[in-house]
Amino acid sequence: MKYLSTRGGMPPKTFTEILLGGLATDGGLTIPDVYPRLSREELAAMRGMNYRDLAFEVIRRFADDIPAADLRAIIDKTYTAEVFRSDDITPVKTLEPGLHILGLSYGPTLAFKDVAMQLLGNLFEYVLEQENAEINILGATSGDTGSAAEYAMLGKKRVKVFMLSPLGKMSPFQTAQMFSLQEPNIFNIAVKGVFDDCQDIVKAVSNDLEFKARHKIGAVNSINWARVTAQVVYYFKAYFAVTESNDEKVSFSVPSGNFGNVCAGHIAKEMGLPIHKLIVATNENDVLDEFFRTGAYRPRPETLHTSSPSMDISKASNFERFVYDLVGRDPAVVKDLWQKVEGGGSFDLSTTPYFARVKEFGFTSGESTHANRLETIRNMYQKYGVMIDTHTADGVKVGLEHRETGIPLVCLETALPAKFDETIHEALGRHAERPADLADLEKRPQRYEVMDSSADAVKRFIVAHCA
Ligand SMILES: *Cc1c(COP(=O)(O)O)cnc(C)c1O
Repeated sequence: MKYLSTRGGMPPKTFTEILLGGLATDGGLTIPDVYPRLSREELAAMRGMNYRDLAFEVIRRFADDIPAADLRAIIDKTYTAEVFRSDDITPVKTLEPGLHILGLSYGPTLAFKDVAMQLLGNLFEYVLEQENAEINILGATSGDTGSAAEYAMLGKKRVKVFMLSPLGKMSPFQTAQMFSLQEPNIFNIAVKGVFDDCQDIVKAVSNDLEFKARHKIGAVNSINWARVTAQVVYYFKAYFAVTESNDEKVSFSVPSGNFGNVCAGHIAKEMGLPIHKLIVATNENDVLDEFFRTGAYRPRPETLHTSSPSMDISKASNFERFVYDLVGRDPAVVKDLWQKVEGGGSFDLSTTPYFARVKEFGFTSGESTHANRLETIRNMYQKYGVMIDTHTADGVKVGLEHRETGIPLVCLETALPAKFDETIHEALGRHAERPADLADLEKRPQRYEVMDSSADAVKRFIVAHCA
């Protein structure tokens, strides 16, 4: 498999060549030249496989330059009951016939990003060892990405993590989860700004190609291709869990921010998994919902601070991958559209033939507000005795609006309620349970650096600490 850039300006590369990088060399996103298409027989053989077998079947098609036995060992070491609290890895809970929750948040940081990040940590270790190389990971997080990355890279040789987060904008639990890490290869940088400022700094540093090369800067944010690949697996897992035959179709509702999770669903569908609808759920930061309703993509100058903070995104970094497919994989069109976006503008596809294809790809969307979140958390608790977190609530709210008779609906659970206890308490008048090993989390000593929103300040810090 060859990897190209969505903007057409990168020579073809292999999976391991793009594994450690962030953006493509021309500022676009990396994408396979063609999605592997599974035959009926291949799909039939996958039904009944456990998580590790499924992961191997999916990922080997994208990571085809890693010897099969090595990849198998990496996957077996990653997806264990010890790390994900059960051998199911991503268990499916049935609320009533045709309505399901796909549990993606049983990894170390209690959010879905662990599923991909834990694999990434082991892939990085493998490739760096092979190449006798090192990497300094620079990332931006509004909460879950950062902690998932840090827990995946904890104590790994040849890896340092420099993680930017918006000062004071994460929940106390998320903050403590990251800032309490004392391992010397982890650096938390709290930026005086919002998440988009952090993301802009990462882009600015990564666009300085000379600095990037000299200091071996890599990325693990949601544009990392291997992460998207790892996320494709659980769409297969859930599909087989809620159907009895591959002639059935299933819809997925996905709490969305940077569009990485639902992009994986799109790829699963392109691979031939019988997906009916991919329902994109946003919070009040509704840039994606607006696009799927109207065809206009208008990144916002302001990001609202909401009670589903991991979806507080006003520019969806993975969206370019989907638009590449939407415009018939024409890099010139993507380049033109993103020139507008990067110049602070927007684009509108409503009057183009491309927009009609959104429906063919199965996409639909909706928005959820703080009041919707509270109501959904309450309803789910009263009706099914199930406590869900705020992000999952956004997905359930929008998913139920699009539910169709005869089509199973799977709502992706992207975090455990313990991470967002303040809102759980507001909704239910009681606290969320949390795993016993995390009881004293907020009381642990914290280690972090406060910094102005400046790419230069961040560069100086990296130079001083990456030696
Ligand atoms: C990251 C995250 C999301 C959004 O996922 P994207 O891949 O960025 O769309 C939703 N919920 C939670 C809890 C997250 O951590």
